[in-house]
Parts: sequence; C-alpha cells; structure tokens
Amino acid sequence: MKRFVIPTRVYSGTDSLRRLERYRDKKTWVVCDGFLAKGGAIARLLEHLDADRVTLFSDIMPDPPIATVVAGIERLQTVRPQVVVGFGGGSAIDAAKAMVFFGRRAGIAIDTFIAIPTTSGTGSEVTSASVISDPVLGIKYPLFNDEIYPDIALLDPQLVVSVPPAVTANTGMDVLTHAIEAYVSTGASDFSDALAEKAAQMVFRHLPDAFATGNCLRTREKMHNASTLAGMAFSQAGLGLNHAIAHQFGGQLHVAHGLANALLLAEVIRFNSQDARAAKKYARLARLCGLAAHQSDDRAGLNQLLNHIGLLKRQVGIPSGLGGLAIGAEKIRLAEANMIRAALNDATLTTNPRPATDNDIAAIIHAVI
Ligand code: NAD
Repeated sequence: MKRFVIPTRVYSGTDSLRRLERYRDKKTWVVCDGFLAKGGAIARLLEHLDADRVTLFSDIMPDPPIATVVAGIERLQTVRPQVVVGFGGGSAIDAAKAMVFFGRRAGIAIDTFIAIPTTSGTGSEVTSASVISDPVLGIKYPLFNDEIYPDIALLDPQLVVSVPPAVTANTGMDVLTHAIEAYVSTGASDFSDALAEKAAQMVFRHLPDAFATGNCLRTREKMHNASTLAGMAFSQAGLGLNHAIAHQFGGQLHVAHGLANALLLAEVIRFNSQDARAAKKYARLARLCGLAAHQSDDRAGLNQLLNHIGLLKRQVGIPSGLGGLAIGAEKIRLAEANMIRAALNDATLTTNPRPATDNDIAAIIHAVI
C-alpha cells in the first residue's frame, strides 16, 4: 500500500502574499536570516501584516544548528504567537519547522504555520522534513514527521528575483536531485512520479535562463513551482543515496546543500543504474524530458540523462568536483570515514533503489573529489 498526503495549502503567484492579510490581527512571529531581515523582502512581507503585532527572529544561518533551534523555542515560549512564518531558504523554513514542532509539543498554541520560500530549491514548504545540524559532530539530521508539514505555503516568485546566480544554480540542482531521487526511490508511486516528471522537465527547461537572467519573473516562477513540485514528490516517495552523502558533505565539509547534491548526482545515477528498475526509470525520465529520442533504448536514455546533467551543470557553473571548492584534500581525507559511517545511517538512504555498502560510498566520494 502506498500513501499520499499533502496537507499543506499552497497559494502561488505574485499576489500570493495577500493571503497573509487574513492574519493581520494575530500575534505573528517571523523566522528568517539576518540578510532577509534587512532587505526589501521583509518589507514586502510586512506590507501584508500589522507590524505592531510582528516579532522577528532573524538569527538563522545556513544549515541551522541545534543551538539556534533551542534558542528559537525559548523565544517562542516568551512571545507565544498565534501565527509563525518561516521566511527564507530551506535553512529558515527548516529551523521554523523544528521550532513550531517542539513548541507545539511544549504546549504553545500556534494556530497556523506559514512557510514562504525565498529560494527555489528545497521544497521544504511542502515537506514533512526538517534538517537540523550538529556542528560539533558534523552531522545533519533529517527529521521526518507528518506534524512538521507547514499549514500554508505561499509561493511568490518576486521574492526569488534577488537570489544571486551561484545560489540559483545550487538550489536549482537541488530541485533536480529531489525529482530524480524521488523518481527512482523504492517509495515512488504513480502520484509522486507525476510530480517528479513535471519538476525535472521544468528544471531542464528553465534553470539555465533563471541562472543567466535572474530578473525574468516568468522563469523564476517556473523554477519556484518546480521546487515545490519536487518537494511534494520526495516528501511522498523519499530520497536516496545522493542525499545520504550530500548531508555529510554539508555537515563535515560545509558544502552548500544544493551544490553537494549537484556534485554527486551523476555518480549516484551511475551506481543506481545497476538496478534494472532504476535504469528503466532514468531512461524514461530522459525521454519524458525530451533529452533522448522516444524510440531510444534504456542504455541510450540513461546516457543522455547523464550527458544533459553534465551540460546543465556546466551551463550554471557547477564545479566538476570537490577539488574545485578549495576545501583541501587533507580535510576531505580526514572526514571520509565519518562521512561514510553517517551516510549509512542517514534516514534518506532507506528508500534508495540499490543497497549501498561502505565501499560503494567510498568509491562515489572518490569519484567526485
Ligand atoms: P539557505 O536557506 O541556506 O540559503 C542560502 C543563502 O541564500 C543564504 O545566505 C540566504 O541568506 C540566501 N538567500 C535566501 N533567499 C534569498 C533571496 N531571496 N535573495 C538573496 N539571497 C537569498 O539555502 P537553501 O538551499 O534554500 O536551503 C538549504 C537547507 O535546506 C539545508 O540545510 C538543507 O539540508 C535543507 N533542506 C531541507 C529540505 C526539507 O525538505 N526540509 C529539503 C532539502 C534541503
């Protein structure tokens, strides 16, 4: 039996922030990072709320650490808001999700949790996941729980126009990785496949333009919606080996999440394509995205998918490996054993189409150095 649940109400379009006006008379707590707290983005948000009723928590940093979540829960207990808004990239939304989840358990009566993404990448606004980091151990913990789903997601493409090209590239590749991992996952269904196919088509079609011409609202809207579609797909179907290793690149080496996924994507596809069912699905996806001829066999389809991922990465300036990131070979070597151990324990590995051993993971890491 397969299960499909998306409890989040989604409003999209350039007027979607107007939905906030329904909460003007509520005590509202906004969770964001320091950059967004100062810019025009927060001003756009506050246009639709009563500023006297809004409190900001702007201490979020990339890959939010446990300590920030704990500080947020303490603050939440003082403010006791009726509405919480997670405003930002995946880091701000994930931190807000964890704060709301534990805050509600501590008895704070939060009526409504609203997620407003300002990057087009994680899909966190429609997922049951929150990824929190332990910087001491260098581990990123993906927490999954149905109570983590935001109540409402607002997708305004105008919020994404200011995202710089490198972040557009990384987050866009994150969308593609979500779609592809969900598509070959052991938890995939016809329902999640429909979402993953559409998201992957949109990334191949629109990411190069979003990277090259960041102020084109239509292109930004397509990538923003693709991100949410891919989030819906993987929240139902699960992820896989790509994320299990990418979480370690983030936790141990501080590589941005989307970039870590992008570096690993082709190698993980090569590894998983030894599974016959996965190989067929990669080829089908290539044909559906117009990357391979309709009549092409599965081997040709897989090769075209790999070729087009390589081309897309070059178009959006993704380096060919970890070596291009100035991390230092010694640091990678020292972290390797920990990364392999943690990847084998990462919750996302459970739905990978092919079992992976420590040697398999080591080989993939070596291939992307
Ligand atoms: P992020 O939230 O860390 O943001 C990256 C950078 O972009 C930050 O410096 C931020 O200030 C900046 N930024 C955000 N919006 C901007 C805007 N509109 N204009 C200019 N700059 C902007 O990056 P992300 O990739 O969105 O999120 C990554 C995090 O999400 C990771 O911790 C990852 O593990 C997690 N994640 C969660 C899920 C989930 O389902 N919960 C899924 C995938 C990834």
